[in-house]
Amino acid sequence: MTLEQNQLRSLPSVNDLLSTSQGQSLILASSHEMAVAVLRAALAQARADIRAGTHGPTKESLLLTAEILLQQRQQPRLRPVINATGVIVNTNLGRAPLSTEALLAVQRVASGYSNLEYALEQGERGSRNAHITDLLRELTGAEAALVTNNNAAAVLLGLSALAQGREVIISRGQLVEIGGGFRVPDVMLQSGCQLVEVGTTNRTRIADYTAAISERTAVLLAVHPSNFLITGFTESTSLKELATLAHQHNLLVMEDLGSGCLLDCSRYGLAHEPTPQESIAAGADLVCFSGDKLLGGPQAGIIVGKQEIIARLAKHPLMRAVRIDKMTLAALETTLRHYLRNEAESHIPVWRMISYTSEQLVRRVSGWVTQLREQGITTHLQSGESTIGGGSLPDETLPTTLLALAESDLAALGKAKGHRSTSLAEIATRLRQWPTPVIPRISRDMLLLDPRTVLVEQDQELIRAMKECIITQNLG
Ligand SMILES: *Cc1c(COP(=O)(O)O)cnc(C)c1O
Repeated sequence: MTLEQNQLRSLPSVNDLLSTSQGQSLILASSHEMAVAVLRAALAQARADIRAGTHGPTKESLLLTAEILLQQRQQPRLRPVINATGVIVNTNLGRAPLSTEALLAVQRVASGYSNLEYALEQGERGSRNAHITDLLRELTGAEAALVTNNNAAAVLLGLSALAQGREVIISRGQLVEIGGGFRVPDVMLQSGCQLVEVGTTNRTRIADYTAAISERTAVLLAVHPSNFLITGFTESTSLKELATLAHQHNLLVMEDLGSGCLLDCSRYGLAHEPTPQESIAAGADLVCFSGDKLLGGPQAGIIVGKQEIIARLAKHPLMRAVRIDKMTLAALETTLRHYLRNEAESHIPVWRMISYTSEQLVRRVSGWVTQLREQGITTHLQSGESTIGGGSLPDETLPTTLLALAESDLAALGKAKGHRSTSLAEIATRLRQWPTPVIPRISRDMLLLDPRTVLVEQDQELIRAMKECIITQNLG
């Protein structure tokens, strides 16, 4: 018999393992079936290892593997992470964190019954939209408002209700892909309208739109090309010009604003981001934007515009398929109220992050550096840039101060402790596997952490993760 066969044969059985005290603990911590499943998985791993030429594991290490597997299986799949990337509206990391007040509102509404679709005064059926209509009218100056599950749904609903079977004119410079498969031409196709492209990638004039209008035209569509810039020899048509043209021909103007920012970005050293208020003032019939980009609220699609047009959308059969749920509505209402109270900057996390001062950021990172130094870990302050993300404000950055861990710092640490040094990539992997995973930025030979997007209450957890991942890694 070969050594490999010998080792495979001497592996304990599932029942052997189950009868140990650790095996019994696995059952207590889960169920008999689950304990058997993780022990089988640990044994399968051991067999694979033996075949790959490593030594057969001890009973203890098999049980330990099973325990780790059980912990992994019992952990929620969807869980909080620490965003140290410096990308504020980070789509992969869940976009906008909600304000404390918005979370409380969700809890209040979702832990019991609510007046979601009940008019308390009349004692009869009400509309879920009624809860945010007045707020959105006041904030944007629009006649009416409607909310959907997300902005992609808002665009689909708008085009379906206003232009099904008819033509929609759009500039070639605005036929964009937003990411995650949202391509403007595809959404238009899905809504059953016919796309009429005008102009060129870099230049579209009002005359191009005028020439394309036919008796089949229903809508002139403007899309904010959120995530890219066309620079150089460019020309585009203002929304005001489009609205004037459309209304002369009895057509509608719809705008997909993408991010939908209610505040003036230029106050924060950023480029101006078009606001729904401006679009409404320019004469748009319908404007839609996201709830969880620069608005800083929950995932939602917000539609504002003319009363009669909004009413057509509200009656469309798709409305039922794309409607917003009560938890989102509660969070959205509360987020909008922050704007009405002029407290967006202090209460909405996205805006708090955007408005951090350089001094505040330096102070936090210096604190991190000091705490890590006390653990024997050398890191540095480094200037860098945070970005807005979420397909908003491309090319726009905010100056920040980063915590930098260099490859050479790791090597020195390894040498001082007499261990082999590890790579930054390994540290990054460990950080991602930490119970509250830490997502850093890696740039050439540096691991970088941006304090701008790390919630203040996560600071201690971040330091603990860094310490454990760097030191344990070096011991390994
Ligand atoms: C982000 C974006 C969308 C999609 O919005 P979601 O809320 O993610 O559905 C649509 N259009 C534009 C221009 C965008 O930037």
